[in-house]
Amino acid sequence: MSSVTNLNKIAVIGGEGIGVEVTAQSRRILSWFAENRGTPIRLRDAEYGKVPYLRSGEVIPADTWDAIRESDAILFGASGGPETEEVPTAARNRDSLLSLRRKLDLYANVRPIYAHPELHAASPLKSRVLQGVDFIIVRELSSGIYFGEPRGIETLPDGRRRGFNTQSYTTDQVHRVARFSFELARRRRGRLCSVDKANVLETSVMWREEVTAIHRSEFPDVELSHMYVDNAAMQVVRAPSQFDVIVTCNIFGDILSDCAAVAAGSLGMLPSASFGPVDQHGRQKALYEPVHGSAPDIAGKGIANPLGSIQSLPLMLRLTLHRPDDAALLETAIAAVLAGGLRTADLVEPGKTPVSTEQMGDAVLQALAARA
Ligand code: NAD
Repeated sequence: MSSVTNLNKIAVIGGEGIGVEVTAQSRRILSWFAENRGTPIRLRDAEYGKVPYLRSGEVIPADTWDAIRESDAILFGASGGPETEEVPTAARNRDSLLSLRRKLDLYANVRPIYAHPELHAASPLKSRVLQGVDFIIVRELSSGIYFGEPRGIETLPDGRRRGFNTQSYTTDQVHRVARFSFELARRRRGRLCSVDKANVLETSVMWREEVTAIHRSEFPDVELSHMYVDNAAMQVVRAPSQFDVIVTCNIFGDILSDCAAVAAGSLGMLPSASFGPVDQHGRQKALYEPVHGSAPDIAGKGIANPLGSIQSLPLMLRLTLHRPDDAALLETAIAAVLAGGLRTADLVEPGKTPVSTEQMGDAVLQALAARA
C-alpha cells in the first residue's frame, strides 16, 4: 500500500476544445490503474484557458500553477481555438501552453510515431510503406522561432506592415537536446537523424556543427546522419521506416510530426512527452499530451479520438512512474481494442459506424479489466 507521501502527483489539465474530452478518458484510465493495480498516483484536476480567465483574469490561475508546481507530471489536453480568441492578447501573452513549456524549461519533446498494423488501412500510405514504422521525433520545445526576440508586427514609414520573428539557438540549447536524443537513440536502434536547413539558415549551420561535435566526443557508437527539412518532410511519408530517432528544432519538429501522423493513420493517434532538466533531487518534470490541438471543427461533439492522449499514458507509466508492466498492459489493451475493429470517426472505414470518444475510453477500460 502506498502512503500519501510516496504517491506521484499528476496535475490533470484538459484545457480547451477536444483537450477536455480526450483528457477525461485518459483520466479514467489513470484512475483504473490506481484502483486496480495500486499504481501510486494522486490526481489533481486543474483549469486552463477561457473558463479560468473569465473567473480570475488568468489563463493559468494561481491554483493551476500550484498543481503544476507540486506535480511530478502533468497530463495536458490541448490549447487553442475560438475559446482562446475570446481571451485578450495580453492575458494570452502572460500565460499560455507555450509559456508553460518555457517556464518549466521543457526542452525535449518526444513524439513517437508508430504505424499500428491494425490501422494500415486507415492511412493513405501503402501498407508496404507502413511496415516497420516505429520512430521518434525529438522536437526542441523551449527555444527557437516560437520564442525568439525581437518579434512583432510594425507599420513602416511608408504605410506597409512588417511582421518579423527571430530563429535563434545557443550552443547549450542545442547540446542538451542533442544529448537527450543521442541517449534515446542509444537505447533504441542506435540511429539519429538531425534535421535542419543548413543550406540556408545560420542557426541550422551552427546546429549541425554542434550536433556533429557532440556526436564525435560523446556518442561515436550512435550512427548520425543529417537531413534538410524539406527532404525530411518528403521522407517521413515516402519511406518512414528508415528513421529511428529524429532530432530537430522547435518549428521543424512541430510541422514534421503532423506530416508523420499520416503514417499513424490520424493526428488523433499521436502521443507526446516533454521533459525539463533533472533537478538537484534527481527529479525531472514531464508533461504528457497528445500531439494534436483543440480541433475546433469537432470540439463539443464527443467524436474526437482519445487514443493520442491515452497513448501518452504508457510514456508516463514508463518514464515518470517507472511502471513498465503497467505501460505494457495498457499498450496490449489498446492494441486489442484496435484489433477488435473499433474506430473513432477520424479512422473509420467508409460504410462502418464510428464510436464516440467515450465509447473508445470504455473499450480500453474493458480491455484492461479483461487482462487484470
Ligand atoms: P488540430 O490538431 O487541432 O486539428 C487538425 C485536424 O485534425 C482537424 O481537422 C481536427 O479535427 C483533426 N484532429 C485533431 N485531433 C483529433 C482527434 N483527437 N480526433 C480526431 N480528429 C482530430 O490543429 P488546428 O486545427 O490547426 O489547430 C486548432 C487550434 O489548436 C489552434 O488554435 C492551434 O493553435 C491549436 N493547437 C494546439 C496544440 C496544443 O495544444 N498542443 C497543438 C496544435 C494546435
